[in-house]
Amino acid sequence: MSNLKAVRGTRDLLPPETALWNRVEATARAVFARYGFGEIRTPIFEDTQLFIRGVGEETDVVSKEMYTWEDRARAQSEKAQSLTLRPENTAGVVRAYIEHKLGDAGMLQKLFYIGPQFRRERPQRGRYRQFWQIGAEVLGPVPSGAESALRDAEVLEMLATLLDELGIPRASEANGNTGWKLALNSVGSSTDRPRYIAALKAALEPVKGTMCADCQRRAETNPLRVLDCKVPEDQETIDNLPKIADFLDEASTEHFAQVRSALDACGVPYVVDPRLVRGLDYYTRTTFEFTSASGLGTQNALLGGGRYDGLSEMLGGPKAPGIGFAIGEDRLILTLQALANPESLLKKRVDIYLAPLGREQNPSVLALAKTLRNVWRPIRGTRGFSVEVGEGDFRLKKSFEFAEKVAPLIGIIGEEERAAQVIKLKQFSTGEQFSLSGAQLIEHLAKDDIALKALGEAFEGGHNSK
Ligand code: AMP
Repeated sequence: MSNLKAVRGTRDLLPPETALWNRVEATARAVFARYGFGEIRTPIFEDTQLFIRGVGEETDVVSKEMYTWEDRARAQSEKAQSLTLRPENTAGVVRAYIEHKLGDAGMLQKLFYIGPQFRRERPQRGRYRQFWQIGAEVLGPVPSGAESALRDAEVLEMLATLLDELGIPRASEANGNTGWKLALNSVGSSTDRPRYIAALKAALEPVKGTMCADCQRRAETNPLRVLDCKVPEDQETIDNLPKIADFLDEASTEHFAQVRSALDACGVPYVVDPRLVRGLDYYTRTTFEFTSASGLGTQNALLGGGRYDGLSEMLGGPKAPGIGFAIGEDRLILTLQALANPESLLKKRVDIYLAPLGREQNPSVLALAKTLRNVWRPIRGTRGFSVEVGEGDFRLKKSFEFAEKVAPLIGIIGEEERAAQVIKLKQFSTGEQFSLSGAQLIEHLAKDDIALKALGEAFEGGHNSK
């Protein structure tokens, strides 16, 4: 039998890379909390109808990319049902909003999610069949303020803060425009859009014969999608098509102006891109996309989102305007890896490697490891250091080889050390050797904590002097 492998378009995430995934998710959770978001976890598969109605039958996602199967009935009382692995999470969140009547309290709902999504796409760098999204939705009944342009600007400002905090720079001349860029557009209200689509269809009629096969099909089924076309020969034709901005009614124009002025007030840079209509059917008014030129090649869209004022009603729910986004976590990781300095990637896995000398030292070394792993670190308000324990049967040379791969510091304990109640240490970066008691070792490992405290004090001092 041939070797079994992960299915095409799926992959295993392994340490040390998973540490970066955890850092990204922890940062996202911390930022979302500061903006008042709570976590929602919806099922990974849903009734196929949810995506047909919520995402749109004519979208590439629904027409070509869904993993759908007929789920057999297991008993007479059950009905067979068409189920689909979620290709995105907004439809699921809005379904849950309707199902649990989250709008009844009259308040704005701010929900975030982190989880895998599934699309049968052609796999390439930055494009997978199972990929992760970190997303958020703000929605609620109209009196909750869900329709306000302030919500759009707040979500965009939060995204800029998150990217800043993750250490992805903003695009500038200084970094050769390799940082993140925000492209913004308004696709109008549910009444603007049909007028624009009709104009687009009419303008495409005489020229579509010269365009690529995809555009010819889209001109019939979903003319907005023509604007997404990347085929070089089609670009001039597309540039000459009508622009959505000329079809916005007064309210949509005003909404878009308010979003932009709030972003200006918060110092969030953006460019207005009239062709940004996005792949999913439910968007109204604000649409946006953040791109990054670092590490992503052609798949440079880091995240996308927009307003979806009619989605809840499309799914049979009450009026619940909203706005949301989905970050491609896989692409965020690729960007961070491309930006990271090699030193930070080489960070050792644990704080210390403890090497017992002789099997009889194993129990006491394990006990010391337990103390180090659980000791309270008052300055950080956390517990413990990370410790790897070797094996007393290893020769000293082997312990050193293993230790150097995983830790900046090795602690050796043999008969002599145990009798003297000390640990013999070697710092690999400097070659320095010294002996410390258990209490002194904790202090030594905590020197970063002390630096942290000094930093905190310096910061406070800076504030007080103002
Ligand atoms: P969408 O749900 O299509 O608006 O996508 C939102 C974000 O998810 C995109 O900007 C990408 O970063 C990411 N994304 C979408 N499809 C994939 C995929 N097949 N593989 C990896 N990331 C993806």
